Amino acid sequence: MFEIGQLVVYIRDSSKAKVHDNVFPIKHYVYRIRGFESCHKCNILGIVLEEIINKPYSSTCANCKKDLGDMEAAFWPQNFRPVSTTDTEMFNELTKPVNDPEELFIKAFEGKVS
Ligand SMILES: [Zn+2]
Repeated sequence: MFEIGQLVVYIRDSSKAKVHDNVFPIKHYVYRIRGFESCHKCNILGIVLEEIINKPYSSTCANCKKDLGDMEAAFWPQNFRPVSTTDTEMFNELTKPVNDPEELFIKAFEGKVS
């Protein structure tokens, strides 16, 4: 299972994903887990990322369809895999928070992590 602060690689093609104005992770990019959102009814967990902060909006659970109220979009854990710990040191420098929206993603690793 994942934990807060862990580096993960997004492994799903989200190029066509569109839910409200949410920003989605990009396949093969590395992200750091900021936290989790969960459905109180079915306990399904979603991941939120340091690099992507979406505006909360009126949400429903993708699994049980329960109304969750205003919640930030969270991403399915099965769409991520952990970055190996031996790589962690070199990722630290590259995953520092940035303020420029154009630099939201860690472009240096595009295509290098599979
Ligand atoms: Zn649910």
